[in-house]
Amino acid sequence: MEFRRRALSKPHRSLSPVGAFPAKSGSSTRVQASDALPIPIRHTNKLFSVLFMASMYYLMCRWREKIRTGAPLHALTLSDIPAIVGFIASLVYLISFFGIAYVQSFVSSHDDEDDFLLSSDQPAPCPLTCSKKSPLAAESLFGDDEEIVSAVVAGKIPSYVLEAKLGDCRRAAGIRREAISRITGRGMEGLPLDGFDYSSILGQCCEMPVGYVQLPVGIAGPLLLNGKEYFVPMATTEGCLVASTNRGCKAIAASDGAVCVVLKDGMTRAPVVRFATAKRAAELKFFLEDPRNFETLEIVFNRSSRFAKLQGIKCSLAGKNLYMRFTCLTGDAMGMNMVSKGVQNVLDCLQNDFPDMDVISISGNFCSDKKPAAVNWIEGRGKSVVCEAIIKEETVRKVLKTTVSALVELNTLKNLAGSAVAGSLGGFNAHASNIVTAIYIATGQDPAQNVESSHCITMMEAVNDNNDLHISVTMPSIEVGTVGGGTQLASQSACLNLLGVKGANLDSPGANSRLLATIVAGSVLAGELSLMSALAAGQLVKSHMKYNRSIKDMSKALPPDS
Ligand code: ADP
Repeated sequence: MEFRRRALSKPHRSLSPVGAFPAKSGSSTRVQASDALPIPIRHTNKLFSVLFMASMYYLMCRWREKIRTGAPLHALTLSDIPAIVGFIASLVYLISFFGIAYVQSFVSSHDDEDDFLLSSDQPAPCPLTCSKKSPLAAESLFGDDEEIVSAVVAGKIPSYVLEAKLGDCRRAAGIRREAISRITGRGMEGLPLDGFDYSSILGQCCEMPVGYVQLPVGIAGPLLLNGKEYFVPMATTEGCLVASTNRGCKAIAASDGAVCVVLKDGMTRAPVVRFATAKRAAELKFFLEDPRNFETLEIVFNRSSRFAKLQGIKCSLAGKNLYMRFTCLTGDAMGMNMVSKGVQNVLDCLQNDFPDMDVISISGNFCSDKKPAAVNWIEGRGKSVVCEAIIKEETVRKVLKTTVSALVELNTLKNLAGSAVAGSLGGFNAHASNIVTAIYIATGQDPAQNVESSHCITMMEAVNDNNDLHISVTMPSIEVGTVGGGTQLASQSACLNLLGVKGANLDSPGANSRLLATIVAGSVLAGELSLMSALAAGQLVKSHMKYNRSIKDMSKALPPDS
């Protein structure tokens, strides 16, 4: 164990640039020249910069002195020689370092940090940017639209190469759409094509686009949360949802607002590895969970991004298979890419000391992403938050049209006992997923993560001599980000901007995503209040009949550009 710790504690040396990244582990980590340095690159840069300045200063002083005294310039003293050697060495280093980086910036505009983990289940980035100016793209596919459509229909040109070959994403989408229409014999008139920037989704958000689905965005609020007001965007086609959440916001605002606390912040990824024996799997578990090894593992993990900060590793065994759940801070990113890259770094490194470790998959479902799982409910994933409010009796009566005792009783019988009868996992609420999903779609989150993000227990209690209502929602796994993924698309970023959480928080990385998580929880609180009140007052069916049963035939309503 001692030996392993020593080997790991010098990750740059321990990982020989080529051999230490076995192909079978599927590593995508790029090996860089800087990996060979004995100290971190930033320290090396500082060292050589200081050496350069010091030696140059010394030589200039000597030069001036020689000119003043009339001594020949080429005559060197013993102390001049190390200064000249230092000057040349630091000059060569600095030119190589910054010169190569400068040349590379022309050859490739790829940002290392954005070079996300690519595995077989993730699409490779598009080889060409979708720019009309790309000369290579323009040369790659000749012919007018009709000819290209025919070639796609005949199977001579694969549909997925259109963006790269044409260099015009809008044109590629139009041609693909026409080809699909001809192949299927079905039109897509209702699906708009124009009015969307297809280059913004290229290689990141959606492949082979043929249009975009329109979703209305409604606003609930103001939501008074932690002393500030938020107007919450919700993308939904469920009538009543925005109106109902809005009513909940009104009740919260009339009762001095809600208070929300972030309890935990950490995204998880759990690879599965296999050994020949359960004993070996247990050895790795002990190694990973030994606090003395944490610092070393942390250094290796955190190399994935300046925002990645490893928090812990929890292991679970199934025979000779080991599941290691890594948890880390990911700044303002939801963090799946970041945590995956960090995990890959650690796996690559571990392979040196556990060569018999067979990496089965970077995700072994103990993470657990987009599936109901007790581990998220109990341990949390993403942001774990609790949000509470005390709703005054008068507000319950006038705004929510019910009584405190009716709400408390209904909550016990429905959200607690009812969900227990149903064998629920994290579903001790009335409709958290309604609000979570609508906000997720509006703000560019991954809507598939509503599965665990909607885990919520709603509690209600009569307080202040049984007059007022204390309501809380506890949500252990809200997975949100304000950078990366769909958050940078125009519409989604406008919604984030409305909430004041657009992009990265430069002063305090992670503050924007944590604030967004609190807004999600506050909105869920509003939604719970309102729906539970409607149920308690027997209004649900009535209001749904009013808002959800329009007699207009919406299939006849065509989008603007059709
Ligand atoms: P995810 O990990 O949620 O899939 P991405 O990896 O797609 O997100 O996006 C995160 C990217 O944004 C990284 O390249 C990271 O370097 C960059 N970034 C810039 N500012 C921040 C920040 N404040 N927090 C997190 N990531 C940031």
